[in-house]
Amino acid sequence: MDPKYRSLLEKQQYRICGDHAAVKLCHWAKESITGRRHCYKQDFYGIVSHRCLQMTPAINECSHQCSFCWRVQGRDYEVTEWMEPKDMLDCLIEQQRMLITGYKGDSRVTPEAFEEASNPDQVAISLAGEPITYPYLSDFLKECHRRGMTTFLVTNGTYPERLEALDELPCQLYVTVAAPDEKTYAEACRPKIDDGWERIVKTLELLPSLDTRTVIRHTLVDGINFFDPEGYAKLDKIADPDLIEPKGYVFVGGSRQRLSMANMPPFEGILNFSTELGELVGMEVLKERSDSRVVLLGTPGVETDIRKVCADRLKVN
Ligand code: SF4
Repeated sequence: MDPKYRSLLEKQQYRICGDHAAVKLCHWAKESITGRRHCYKQDFYGIVSHRCLQMTPAINECSHQCSFCWRVQGRDYEVTEWMEPKDMLDCLIEQQRMLITGYKGDSRVTPEAFEEASNPDQVAISLAGEPITYPYLSDFLKECHRRGMTTFLVTNGTYPERLEALDELPCQLYVTVAAPDEKTYAEACRPKIDDGWERIVKTLELLPSLDTRTVIRHTLVDGINFFDPEGYAKLDKIADPDLIEPKGYVFVGGSRQRLSMANMPPFEGILNFSTELGELVGMEVLKERSDSRVVLLGTPGVETDIRKVCADRLKVN
């Protein structure tokens, strides 16, 4: 990793393990440990925000440069030595513990909350880069599950062969579908590869065969891809996911250099779009969080508690 890139990341409160893995304390984990608010996934799936390890095993590569992405972009590099999963997880947890030390003396933080935050039980594999390019991802997932940690994996869908090769699947697999058609995809995701759209469709075709919870995330940006629910429904029907998350773009991080506040869809728009999309794919609005501009679509009565959904893989419950 370029030392300049490493220091840029560290200035932005990333902590690096080896030459390719990183952790960063999530905004919502900070809110949660101080007893204020928590992220929408706590409401939707029962995770505990301050016990979440927001990480990536592969900060070195991404096939997209999405206009709406809040992360650092365009610094791809070759990794010559990959960390072993156990060592990487130990290192990331240790770095997270160092990131929260400042909260120990904070009067808003109870000893219980601090103790919980020191022992993460949820891993959000979504911090930056394309995590699926980490060569030992199956073993990493096994190690997390062996320690009783639930796992959310977010992929942009352009690595179907890697997804197919996983012999351990995350508790919840997210595929981001940020366009209803190929032309819009090119503008929204600015792919670095020529066959990105074909690869995403291949991933969607693969999803029904995967034995885990699958969620399609539509990140919607006003003025770029926030239209054509029929086009999104056509893709969602291919994937036949358990759940769908239409989510409005939020003006944060690196995306502020490319977009503006005007690109953030109002929550009412997201809710109307979701209701229409739900009717097209046979799903209903199960939950919503207006401050996070997100809606959860699914079949009424479906189990959403991730610990119950993933009980078959979690060795420690
Ligand atoms: S699930 Fe995502 S939003 Fe929630 S605490 Fe973890 S990283 Fe943050």
